Amino acid sequence: MSTGVSGAPGSEENGDDWQSELRRQFPIITGHPELTYFDSAATSQKPRRVLDTVTDYLTTSNANADRGTYPWANRTTDLVERTRARVKHFLGDGDPERSGVHFTSGATDGLRTVARDWLTGLLADGDEILVPFSDHRANLDPWLEARRLLAERGVSITVRALPVQADSGDYDHRALPALVGPRTRFVAATHVHHVYGGDMNVHRIRAAVGPDIPICLDAAQSVGHLPVNVGEGGLDVDFVVFSGHKALALPGIGALWARNTRGPRFRPAGWDGTPNTSGIASLEAALDWLDAAGTVRIDRWTTALATRLTDSLRHLADIEILGCRTSLAADTAMPHEQRRRGVVSFRHRGIPSDDLGFILFSHGFMVRADSLCQAGAQGTDAVVRVSLHVYNTEEEVDRLIAVLTTLS
Ligand code: PLP
Repeated sequence: MSTGVSGAPGSEENGDDWQSELRRQFPIITGHPELTYFDSAATSQKPRRVLDTVTDYLTTSNANADRGTYPWANRTTDLVERTRARVKHFLGDGDPERSGVHFTSGATDGLRTVARDWLTGLLADGDEILVPFSDHRANLDPWLEARRLLAERGVSITVRALPVQADSGDYDHRALPALVGPRTRFVAATHVHHVYGGDMNVHRIRAAVGPDIPICLDAAQSVGHLPVNVGEGGLDVDFVVFSGHKALALPGIGALWARNTRGPRFRPAGWDGTPNTSGIASLEAALDWLDAAGTVRIDRWTTALATRLTDSLRHLADIEILGCRTSLAADTAMPHEQRRRGVVSFRHRGIPSDDLGFILFSHGFMVRADSLCQAGAQGTDAVVRVSLHVYNTEEEVDRLIAVLTTLS
């Protein structure tokens, strides 16, 4: 299937040409030249290919899946099964026979489903789990809820916090082994942090907890932004959960990938009901588009933009950047995984973050300005977040730096 995307990974094309060609494929971006969208960690914009695919599906084949005997219904059933396989392939799944993909409404729903339908069946009285207390609350609330559900059945478990390094926001991998014991049964972690932008080095969690403990990965900020590979030599995790809308597809669709080799096989409890078929059509088109554009190149582009931004912001006396300051530059000596990705959060020492959000919009910049749904954050912890995607340009970043410089 043609995606209309040029500039395949590894081609010798000039990076700017490659990017401008991709940017042109986002009608909402090209249709609003006076505005700059810097809020892709909240939701991504959609390429024409995704929009056309959804219209095409709804105007030629819309029907329910797994229920009819006529061509539209059969086509829809094929679409759902094909997209299940597409998700596995996109994640580099080397054992697609054993693994499973369950469609969800998004990452929040996926994490809640793992907690409710799988984790509660795994744990016994006295077991322990390790979960992140300063990541997105979507990756904390479900595990606390599982503890509550188990307690109602008379099963008491201990929920421990994954330790965090105060300066970088990364997990504290040196403190982690002391928290792992014979009753540790499960770890929940995040791939890329939605506030600090850092890769959370999940391979080090695997090294610390050993080969047998299931790990659930919240990949909401990585799928669609960088390669997420669970195949040989990739991420040795047991669940990958993400939202379609952050990966160029429509809102209301997400996926939960389960490896099914550690612990019981994942099976969603109860009756699923009608799947979000137009969302699934958008997800298939988005994954095709992303593969053709090249997630390695998208990652390189957005990381370079984030580096450009942070390298300037750290010279502004009034700006405090959150998370690691030393990994802000695209330091080639630094392991790839440790780098900051396309998310930069900061505070202005003299201007409240929500005011700064309004000021930046008066210059055409759409940024996020609140406490970013971080677990444990209070209203007073508001920050400004600039989050980037392949449609953003150096010129947009430079204009933002110029405005922030006048405010310093
Ligand atoms: N996890 C992370 C790291 C996120 O950034 C988000 C959303 O911002 C979520 C989970 C929840 O995603 P959704 O609202 O699409 O369910």
